[in-house]
Amino acid sequence: MRRLKKDLGQHILLSKGVLKKLVEFLEVSGDDRVVEIGGGTGNLTREILKTDVREVFTIEIDPSMVEELKKIEDRRLKVIEADATTFDLCSLGQDLKLIGNLPYNVASLIVENTVRYRRCVSLALFMVQKEVALRITGKSEPGWITLFVNTFYRTEYVMSLPPKFFFPRPRVESGVVRLVRREGYPDIETDRFKTFLTKFFSRRKRKLKNLFPEDSLKEAGLDPDLRPHQLSYDEILKLYNVLER
Ligand code: SAH
Repeated sequence: MRRLKKDLGQHILLSKGVLKKLVEFLEVSGDDRVVEIGGGTGNLTREILKTDVREVFTIEIDPSMVEELKKIEDRRLKVIEADATTFDLCSLGQDLKLIGNLPYNVASLIVENTVRYRRCVSLALFMVQKEVALRITGKSEPGWITLFVNTFYRTEYVMSLPPKFFFPRPRVESGVVRLVRREGYPDIETDRFKTFLTKFFSRRKRKLKNLFPEDSLKEAGLDPDLRPHQLSYDEILKLYNVLER
């Protein structure tokens, strides 16, 4: 096998069974546009192309992998050499399904970019570091990204995978998450929301009254002596909306 670049998170998914399962979870139908993140050697790309998908885009940052991917002969496939952490997903279509065995060092950034382009992404299926998968789905202690994602997407922890399914083996366990966009998700400005959430989750030990104006807390119906981790998702969202008014 060709030399793999550790710094680009190149851990190739070897298991045919897992590749097949991942594509099944994507529930591809004939008029779908699928966007793969990090095509690599094309293992997953080829599996997606086995469905009757209408069009597949694969976004890959490594020029030598791009060269490999371009060898796949299928008129439905378009190979894009770009950085998926900032790529404008809406430039590819309006109702996209995303899939990827993500490079773990930038997985959170790719999830963040997905949320940024939520207008065009109805579903996403990502393999990430298990710890990140638990965080995104709110199964471990929530962080800013938990609320950031779950406000717009219903999240599901699909399955865990041990390192032996990859080459080279990563040092950590992996987890698959599925994001299904919520119907009527709130109209919220991405950057302002992120700024609020990172502030909210960075000072867990402070009381709310030391973080936010007391009249806003009152308006949101919150006890100013509470600490951030004592609030429910709905209460946090309510506070954000009051602060934005
Ligand atoms: N899909 C393949 C490879 C996954 S490894 C498989 O499952 O076997 C992750 C891939 O993401 C690598 O090919 C790596 O080069 C690519 N990658 C890393 N950083 C990226 C970025 N910022 N944007 C797009 N692709 C990236």
